Amino acid sequence: MTEKSSALYVVPTPLGNLADMTPRAVEALRRAAWVACEDTRHSAPLLKHFGVSARLLAAHRHNEEAAAQQIVARLDEGESVALVCDAGTPAISDPGARVVARARAAGHRIVPLPGPCAAVTALSASGLAEPRFLFHGFLPAKARQREEALRELAGLRHALVFYEAPHRIVETVEAMRSVFGPERTLVLARELTKLFETIHVCPLGEAPAWLEAEANRQRGEFVLIVSGASPSADDGEGERVLKLLLGEGLPVKQAAKLAHAITGAAKNALYDLALRLREHDDSAR
Ligand code: SAM
Repeated sequence: MTEKSSALYVVPTPLGNLADMTPRAVEALRRAAWVACEDTRHSAPLLKHFGVSARLLAAHRHNEEAAAQQIVARLDEGESVALVCDAGTPAISDPGARVVARARAAGHRIVPLPGPCAAVTALSASGLAEPRFLFHGFLPAKARQREEALRELAGLRHALVFYEAPHRIVETVEAMRSVFGPERTLVLARELTKLFETIHVCPLGEAPAWLEAEANRQRGEFVLIVSGASPSADDGEGERVLKLLLGEGLPVKQAAKLAHAITGAAKNALYDLALRLREHDDSAR
């Protein structure tokens, strides 16, 4: 497929501080014939502020497929389109991925611009030394599903990065404390780049009380980062319990599931280990 001259620019916008708009982002918006916005009313003041006169079209989670077709049609006409979301980087816990996929499939160039993203901004100030992180974004709203999602992550050594809304912040932090235990470190990054920016770091066990101590601490937008599982607690205990259960003759799947429920070690890793141990036993017979 030959590449066409027009391009889809994926343009991050500020999280709250207009000075975080990069010169390249401004230029891309000014040059584009169209700006695809999550909410045109929300983005209009920002675009006006930066002297962007492009025509606007809506691309949000309820119309993303139809919007993608519209955007591809504009690109096919030789017009460039800039894609923005309400704040931060498109396609990161926001619509945009489908638009990018459709535009690429139609042979168009995708030009991603680096810029504001709440997860990366919070990570840079976390002080956590884990070499790897896992971006989870929003957890399920319902308590049971949320707890299940947290359990699946409990044994990972990655720093775990979540987005959360103010009305769920206390219950989510409580759930994290109960699933991950009180010892792991929590970084609460609130209202990043804004007037009331707060970055609070404490053991998970102390976090609910810290949040409850002042109503303002529960207001605004949050990134939560939890330090990874410690290697000794994870591997040693998970493996020990798994071996006990396999020794009692439990099937591989059930043994891995129970060892995960008992120790919080990663379920997939336990399952792989259980398969290897059982194979080893079988071949030793
Ligand atoms: N696409 C965005 C990005 O690149 O970060 C994320 C959009 S998502 C719909 C919105 C969530 O991002 C908020 O609920 C909050 O968890 C997080 N967020 C956005 N702005 C933030 C800020 N200024 N401070 C802390 N968290 C923020």
